[in-house]
Amino acid sequence: MREGLTVDEAQSEILSATSRLGAETISAAEAAGRVLAEPIDSTRRHPPVDCSAMDGYAVRRADLQSASAESPASMPVVYEVAAGGHAERPLETGEAARIFTGAPLPPGADAVVRQEDTRAGDPRVEILVAPRLREHVRDGGEDFEIGDRLIDSGVVLGATHLGVLASIGRTIVSVYQRPTVAILSSGDELVEPDRPVDSGQIVSSNSYTLAAACREIGAQPSYLGIAGDRPEEIEERLRAGLRADVIVTSAGVSVGDHDHVRTVLEKVGCKLRFWGVLMKPGYPMAFGVIESTGALVFGLPGNPVSAAVTFEEFVRPVLRKMMGQRALYRPVVRARLTEKLTKRAGRLHFVRVSLELRDGEWMAKPTSNQSSGVLTSMIRGDGLAVFAAESEMLEAGSEIDVQVLDSNFFDQTERGF
Ligand code: AMP
Ligand code: MG
Repeated sequence: MREGLTVDEAQSEILSATSRLGAETISAAEAAGRVLAEPIDSTRRHPPVDCSAMDGYAVRRADLQSASAESPASMPVVYEVAAGGHAERPLETGEAARIFTGAPLPPGADAVVRQEDTRAGDPRVEILVAPRLREHVRDGGEDFEIGDRLIDSGVVLGATHLGVLASIGRTIVSVYQRPTVAILSSGDELVEPDRPVDSGQIVSSNSYTLAAACREIGAQPSYLGIAGDRPEEIEERLRAGLRADVIVTSAGVSVGDHDHVRTVLEKVGCKLRFWGVLMKPGYPMAFGVIESTGALVFGLPGNPVSAAVTFEEFVRPVLRKMMGQRALYRPVVRARLTEKLTKRAGRLHFVRVSLELRDGEWMAKPTSNQSSGVLTSMIRGDGLAVFAAESEMLEAGSEIDVQVLDSNFFDQTERGF
């Protein structure tokens, strides 16, 4: 087993051990957010025929070349076509047909005059304009023709994709499966949030952070509970999760006398690939593969920020790859530091920063307490600034990449127009 990998090496190793899951067929109505596992070709034409884009009158343009407000053309209204209906007969020279938005254009008609450009009458109408050819007509097939490629495989389905699927009558679609993730907390000091907390105990928050982070991207967490710091207890709980696609433990993975997670992982058939990543927070992290099932195992550190950050950097991209996503990583903005940062060379630091746009430039302000135990540093920050491993100092005002962790970050309180 290798020890002390760079973040880059660790991520490459993990992603190369990850494959996309298989496809499953689900109801198209439930498919928002899922990744399409088949290309969608149109089996219909839309709109099926030429139709009117306005309420008004279907006409033959040649009849109206000299019509204007000063010299309107008076025409007989020979029938009416409403949406969902159809023309009784072709439109003949000199005739108009009352027509409504979405109604099929009568054969022979080649333009629609808006109601507003007429003086209504029954049985005759006065047309005040000379329409252009096919004015206010929606062409049959202008949206798509039979056989058109509408959506490529690999696309993440959004609301309008579901609308397009409905337009072609697709009720089921093939999408990539969502990985199952078994989550185990470990530590004698841990208690569940609804229990009294004695001195010496702390509430287990990691399983909540990790389960929610899974759900946020569509993975399916299951909770294995808290195991005390005894190998048998860890083993029993871990075995309950061995059928998951991914197993995520937190704590007990370091080098202390009470850290049994790695030993137990090996006992249940996990081949450890590496331990220790040159990063802060999050050094004591283990990665392995359950040889019999291929499940990926992440032994994350126990400190809440370390667990959250190692999930971000390693588990999240893996889960996204499994479910067919092509974009595995968070958006990154280039920002200017509001203060100087220093550290020793050797480990990459993920610095929690808040982001603010000032005169068109992003400013990154480190949250005050960067301890790996201070989970509120994650909620005070908007992202993780990447302070490179070799670097020892970054002056205030220097530029740094920031991974934006909040998926709603770019939403605006101001109108976009
Ligand atoms: P360990 O890796 O077991 O040494 O744990 C490191 C630190 O993380 C300790 O201070 C633990 O109390 C804390 N910790 C471990 N598990 C959790 C958890 N599930 N929720 C919150 N903090 C935890
Ligand atoms: Mg512990």
